[in-house]
Amino acid sequence: MKAYDYLVVGAGLFGSVFAYEAAKRGKRIKVIDKRNHIAGNIYTENIEGVNVHKYGAHIFHTNDKEIWNYVNQFAEFNRYTNSPIANYKGEIYNLPFNMNTFNKLWGVVTPDEAKAKIEEQKAAAGIDKPKNLEEQAISLVGTDIYEKLVKGYTEKQWGRKATELPAFIIKRLPVRFTYDNNYFNDKYQGIPIGGYTQIVEKMLENPLIDVELEKDFFESKDEYLREFPRIVYTGMIDQFFDYQFGTLEYRSLEFETTILEQENYQGNAVVNYTDAETPYTRIIEHKHFEFGHQEKTVITKEYPKTWSKGDEPYYPVNDKKNNEIFNKYLELARKTPNVLFGGRLGMYKYYDMHQVIGAALAAVKKEFN
Ligand code: FAD
Repeated sequence: MKAYDYLVVGAGLFGSVFAYEAAKRGKRIKVIDKRNHIAGNIYTENIEGVNVHKYGAHIFHTNDKEIWNYVNQFAEFNRYTNSPIANYKGEIYNLPFNMNTFNKLWGVVTPDEAKAKIEEQKAAAGIDKPKNLEEQAISLVGTDIYEKLVKGYTEKQWGRKATELPAFIIKRLPVRFTYDNNYFNDKYQGIPIGGYTQIVEKMLENPLIDVELEKDFFESKDEYLREFPRIVYTGMIDQFFDYQFGTLEYRSLEFETTILEQENYQGNAVVNYTDAETPYTRIIEHKHFEFGHQEKTVITKEYPKTWSKGDEPYYPVNDKKNNEIFNKYLELARKTPNVLFGGRLGMYKYYDMHQVIGAALAAVKKEFN
């Protein structure tokens, strides 16, 4: 066996940034991933000339100029601005909730009229201390927005009635009193022209880095712990410790991808289905991320589902119960010599891409300073 300095478990964004930076410092790294491709959840695959986001729509956005410059080393980004729309039983509304949404809902034209309408609905509901998600949402944005744009979507996402969900899930609902359909407030946003996979490909393209795919860490955990001086682990933290404090919960998703013999299916990259009856939460039409004009189009329906072992763990359920379990694992992780835990599964945290890059660069700084 070659003398490696590091084993990186997971060729996702966290592991790849770490490997790239470590190789830049002359370290030898072995990267393993249990999937048959690199890039983790940001993986994009070219189908019919369209870069398909295989694990859900990914839009890069950040306020941090350093992170924006960092990621731009690996790809050129386009001017894509995320402006999803909501389809409620055939009625179309702009998201996030803004003057376009309010105009369509109520015919109001000025911000004052919109504010008055929301206040009127909040007052009519008379909710003082919200006891559940439904009451929380109504107390924030009133009944109409809640009924048409929040309720069905949220219930599908969580697989439970809004009256049975805790209020804390919705801390705030962004409401904007301008005619601005840009979903994010960040200074920088875009989609890498040619997809995300190239970013990770370039990060791992170094003679000091060897990548082995379809290799599960747990097939040879003891051997790896024995033979590598240092391990960067981006898999599930509870699995690393044999689930000894219990299993952390996630929400999962099922993706149904179809190639259609038409140029333009829905006219927008992201359409949310906010009624309760439609079983999926959104349809992604991937070509619109890159303003594509291919003859065919590729769409993906996203069906939320309860996670059980063996499913892809997408969204950590950061409620009190799970966070308490996670903290016990974190305590153990801190006492585990020579293993650095990172990424969304290692830290049991919903990280956006810019946050993962930030966290990986912070880990690099700590490791090499
Ligand atoms: P991952 O990408 O999950 O990488 C971890 C890797 O480790 C995986 O490849 C996995 O196969 C591998 N692994 C796990 N266990 C083992 C094991 N035992 N042995 C070997 N390999 C293992 N972010 C944004 O900024 N904008 C968005 O619009 C956005 N949309 C998203 C939509 C969805 C549906 C999801 C789920 C996430 C979205 N994100 C978005 C977040 C983004 O995907 C993450 O920030 C990023 O992918 C996290 O990188 P990571 O390296 O931590 O984890």
